[in-house]
Amino acid sequence: MTIDLRSDTVTKPSLGMRDAISQAPVGDDVYGDDPTVNSLEERVAQMFGKEAGVFTPTGSLANQLAIRILVAPGEELLAETNSHIVRAELGAAAVFSGITTRTWPATHGLLVAQDALDIARPDSGPYLVSTTAIAVENTHNFGGGTVQPIGEIAALREGADALGLALHLDGARIWNAHISSGVSFADYGKYFDTISVCLSKGLGAPVGSIMLSTKERVSKARIWRKRYGAGMRQVGLLAAAGHYALDNNIQRLVEDHRRAKELAVAIATIDSTLIDPSTVTTNIVGLDLANTSLTAAELAKRCREAGLWISALGPKYARLVTHMDFDDAMCNEAIEVLKKALVA
Ligand SMILES: *Cc1c(COP(=O)(O)O)cnc(C)c1O
Repeated sequence: MTIDLRSDTVTKPSLGMRDAISQAPVGDDVYGDDPTVNSLEERVAQMFGKEAGVFTPTGSLANQLAIRILVAPGEELLAETNSHIVRAELGAAAVFSGITTRTWPATHGLLVAQDALDIARPDSGPYLVSTTAIAVENTHNFGGGTVQPIGEIAALREGADALGLALHLDGARIWNAHISSGVSFADYGKYFDTISVCLSKGLGAPVGSIMLSTKERVSKARIWRKRYGAGMRQVGLLAAAGHYALDNNIQRLVEDHRRAKELAVAIATIDSTLIDPSTVTTNIVGLDLANTSLTAAELAKRCREAGLWISALGPKYARLVTHMDFDDAMCNEAIEVLKKALVA
């Protein structure tokens, strides 16, 4: 048996989801004619208190459309050092939009509003780059699935308003943040000018993200989406999977969080320098191997030979992500594999 904890993107669409896909009414979405896409965009926009949304094939594209609209070429976006927009989108902000980024570091990726505001330089004139927007990732992937404190988000909004800056939320895993914190989607949404969300992570859809904002910004984003080659046709098939995911797979994230915590507690019992279980509040378990002789690649190799797939994301950083295709029996099995791999 293979247990795949490389990411929560590895899940396979369930039979129920495939059923929903097969029954979806569809139309040509480039003409705005796909009723399932339209209702999904409206539904998610409403959940977050936004006027409109645009369906995209990936979260990266949803992020890129948002910052393309917020930040003009030659201006800068601020983001945390280990954020997905900065590290995992292959320089798209620079390549597509002529946007430069400047970063601030945060422990476990956790937002301290003042740290971001301190490096902001709006309206910098003819010599320095002007800051126009700040991005926040919630949950923070490479930070270990950490949930951004709502108080810091509110403080960032206040500071950004004073400086005339826009705020973007990379909410690929905002569903996990909501389940962990109890903060409503609308409460998260109200602080941000643009939001991206993924249906293909913990929610288990095969494809799909949505960028949310005002009607005006979303209209502009539709033009850029087509320009980037992502104007799609009878894509209600995929939107139907998104509807199904929202109907069935949000509340169950609590189980993914419970299993991630179980993994973290078990790993800390083996070696407490690897992880502090109290930092694991969603579905990501990040292991710091700095105090061991093991590299992340070696650990991943040992695990893989025993049927457990994990990610080596840095020389000394390994990541395990729980998801809907990972159950209690697999969790016990994964712990046994890790026990052997970590002590050997
Ligand atoms: C996965 C992810 C995205 C989007 O990724 P795609 O693979 O392009 O869908 C964006 N932000 C974060 C934090 C992510 O984890």
